[in-house]
Formats: sequence, C-alpha cells, structure tokens
Amino acid sequence: MQIPFNKPYLTGKETEYIREAVASGKISGDGLFTKKCHQFFEQRYGFKKCLLTTSCTDALEMCAILLDIRAGDEVIAPSYTFVSTVNAFVLRGAKIIFADSEANTPNIDADTIESLISPKTKAIIAVHYAGIACDMDKIMAIAHKHNLFVVEDAAQAIDSYYNPFGLNPPSLRGGARGGAGVPLGSIGHLATFSFHETKNIISGEGGMLVINDKHFMQRAEIIREKGTNRAAFFRGEIDKYGWVDIGSSFLPSDIIAAFLYAQLENLDDIQNRRKEIWQMYNDALQKLEREGKIQLAKIPHYATNNAAIFYLLCANKSERTKLIKFLSLKGILAVFHYLPLHKSSYYQDKHSGGELPNSNAYADRLLRVPFFYELSAENQNLVIESIFEFYGC
Ligand SMILES: *Cc1c(COP(=O)(O)O)cnc(C)c1O
Repeated sequence: MQIPFNKPYLTGKETEYIREAVASGKISGDGLFTKKCHQFFEQRYGFKKCLLTTSCTDALEMCAILLDIRAGDEVIAPSYTFVSTVNAFVLRGAKIIFADSEANTPNIDADTIESLISPKTKAIIAVHYAGIACDMDKIMAIAHKHNLFVVEDAAQAIDSYYNPFGLNPPSLRGGARGGAGVPLGSIGHLATFSFHETKNIISGEGGMLVINDKHFMQRAEIIREKGTNRAAFFRGEIDKYGWVDIGSSFLPSDIIAAFLYAQLENLDDIQNRRKEIWQMYNDALQKLEREGKIQLAKIPHYATNNAAIFYLLCANKSERTKLIKFLSLKGILAVFHYLPLHKSSYYQDKHSGGELPNSNAYADRLLRVPFFYELSAENQNLVIESIFEFYGC
C-alpha cells in the first residue's frame, strides 16, 4: 500500500462548471467564472481588488513590475522560501537581501529586517509559511518608517488571519471570520496567492494578485493584459484600447476559473477537514515532542492556522534522512523542502550577507508528512504509528 504525500481533492462540481464555461462560448480570460471568483474573494475577505493569474509566480512577477523594481534595487526576503518569492524580483534586476527565519517559525525574523535596509531597498517580502502569519505589525511599521513596499507572499495562506491582539487560541477555529483578525493578503500593499494542486484550494496551476493600495489598481489591470488598457475598454470606460505600458499575459482562461469556483464553494468544508487532520497529527505527536524527540509547529499568539502544511522538526538532517527512508519502506511518502536560497547554486555567489542559521536549520530538519483532504483516518494512523515506531516508542 502507498500513502502519497498529496492528492488533489475535487469537490465534484469542477467539470460541470468547466462545461458551463465552455458552453458560454467565452473561454479566454475574465469571463463569468473569473468574475465570480473575484467577487467571492472580495466579499469574503474584504480584499479591495483581486485579479486571478495563471500562478502565484505570475502574480509575484506582476508585483515586481508594479513596484517598478529596477536593476540595483534591493528587496528583502526570507531565504527559507520557494524560489518564485524572489525570482520574480530578480527578473527585474533586483538584488535579494536574504533574511533569516525566526527561531520559532520559518517566517522572516522581523527583528533582523532593519539591519538589512540600505538606501537601495524598495520592498520587503513577507512569506506566511504554512499559512501562519508573519509578525505583520512589526513589518508594516518598519516599512512605513523607511518608506518601503510590503508584498505578502500568501501562496499558502488562504483563509488565515492575523490578529495583533492575540485572540488565542484561535488556531483551529473554523471560518474564523470576525473575531480572528484581519485576513492574510489584506495587510501588505500587494499580496499573492497560489492555487497550485499542492495548496488548500486548487485549480491545477493558478494564482491571484490582491491589490490593497489603490494606487496600483489601474496599472495592475494593464500589466495583466499585455500592457494594454483592454480591461477598461471592456467596461466601456474608454472607446478604444491600445498599448500603454509594459505587461504580459498573466490572466488565466475562464476554464481554470470555473474549476477554482467549484473549490471556493466548498472552502469551508475543505478547511474544516484539513484542520481536523492537522489537529489529529498534532495531538498524536505531542507525546514525541514532550519526550524531546521532535518539535512541532509553534503558532504565535497573533496567528491562526489554516492547515496548509503539517510539519515536524527532526533533531538534525541525518535523522530526517533516516526517517524519510523508514517511512518510505512502509509506503509512506514524506518530503522536505526549501534548500536555503542564499545557498542555492544560482544565488550563493550573489549572496552578500552572513550565514542564516535558522533558515539552514529548517532546511535540514523540517519534514512534511502526507496531508490532504482525502487522507483516511486509517492511513493517518499508520503514518503516526510509523513515526512512533521510528523513535522507538
Ligand atoms: C506554492 C508557492 C509559490 C508558487 O506558487 P505557484 O502558483 O506554483 O506559482 C510561491 N511562494 C510560496 C511560498 C509557495 O508556497
């Protein structure tokens, strides 16, 4: 028997909505389902403006263009993240100044940001790892003081919240609207989400740009439509459209949006089930943490948990390698991720800062176990028992 690491969950209506989109005769971008998705996000989370994109990577590339990133500009970002977080800015000529993670979470350590700021700094990228909020009040205050932009890479952070007043324990409360704080993705000037098949809400490939600073709204539409003012034209705001800026084709087909909309209609159900699975892992593995064998995720008082990822921390890299092998012999696929970007083959020569010990430690010690909507209780128990067996308990 094999227990995969991830299995994309289909809610049932995806193909029906795709058929509807096809039947409508308009399957390029910004069709009926794209509008429905935009409305859903804007209503549910109060995002000022949402634009579906073909991926979170594309949404990040739009951010780099919107912020007018040019050769020589500096962008501060965590080293422990997915490559797209920073590659989008490198494409525009930026130098990435890598920050370390916090000791307690893989998120950027806000206390180290100010020491990385120079006259060339333009933006800070806050990645909400595993959907757990970064220390946003601190980050926004630094950005305000130094006149910098903040982009939230909220790829993993759908339906998760930040609450500076710490309504703890909100971590696993369903829905979490009102009371749990402000939605992640609504705090920075810009924010990006991913609907890649490994995330909570999926469309195969897919993403979204959220624009919170209204100065960027008009230009975002233009950049997404190949540098043309086509969107305004279709709204009847102008009588002809043309090339007015740089851009690319960042908008997804309505077929993708149709798939996504079926997922959104089931967002609460998906989130509830994922939180159940997360909680079951966390409860069961507490014993190993108490015995000092592993460490589990720490959720800061200001963050909710959207059950995007379940991870544990092994003592060190060699122990993690052994555990992965042990689980794989039992047919269980567990994976690690993020080689620190400051040590990547592409960037190690360009990295000008010092060692980033916490980033290195998460890269060496973090292990993700099978986690998906349809993971059965039986299989989840097998994963848990196997981890206990590995640690000799
Ligand atoms: C998944 C992910 C991305 C990339 O998302 P795509 O939609 O695959 O482009 C970017 N940043 C983070 C933190 C991610 O987890």
